[in-house]
Amino acid sequence: MSEIIQLHDKKFIKYIPSQEIDKAVSEVAEQLNRDYCSDPPLILVTLNGAIVFAADLLKQLQFSSVLSCIKLSSYKGTHATDTMKTLIGLNEDVSGKRVLIIEDIVDTGKTYQTLVDLLNEKGAKEIRIATLTLKPDAYNLDLPVHYVGIRIPNKFVVGRGLDYDGLGRNLNDIYQLVN
Ligand code: 5GP
Repeated sequence: MSEIIQLHDKKFIKYIPSQEIDKAVSEVAEQLNRDYCSDPPLILVTLNGAIVFAADLLKQLQFSSVLSCIKLSSYKGTHATDTMKTLIGLNEDVSGKRVLIIEDIVDTGKTYQTLVDLLNEKGAKEIRIATLTLKPDAYNLDLPVHYVGIRIPNKFVVGRGLDYDGLGRNLNDIYQLVN
């Protein structure tokens, strides 16, 4: 795959090679295996973006967990919008359970906060998050981000599940928007 790709009207340049991403995923898996082996969580995958990270991660987990999915949406194109919609809701009972959220990216943290509020409302015992990428300069919550694969600058990226208007999720490397 070339260094520069085009998705719709925008160009993206290769930014994080797949080997580096694989290593980061394995490191997160190691931490999860250490922290959850004796008391596994319910794993909550955020659709659509986190499916690739979740699939890569789950194969490396050495404990059995129930898997559930949820779909929230706040992005349009390359910018977040203010309205957070629940497109597919939570269908597992999380009451009294440890929950591990799997995210592709934590940007401002708005999605994470929405999930935490929802899970608290449903009586989850403990809520943690594992994210493939985190934008520390954009993140503005006090909530801890427990497991982070790769910290990235505040620029729009695609690949490994992350899309630009529906395209780019299948890219094995992560690409950054060329301005
Ligand atoms: P937050 O709510 O943390 O601000 O944003 C989280 C959501 O915004 C992610 O689940 C993802 O859908 C989207 N998002 C934030 N930054 C990026 C980015 O750089 N690339 C893509 N493709 N999506 C992003």
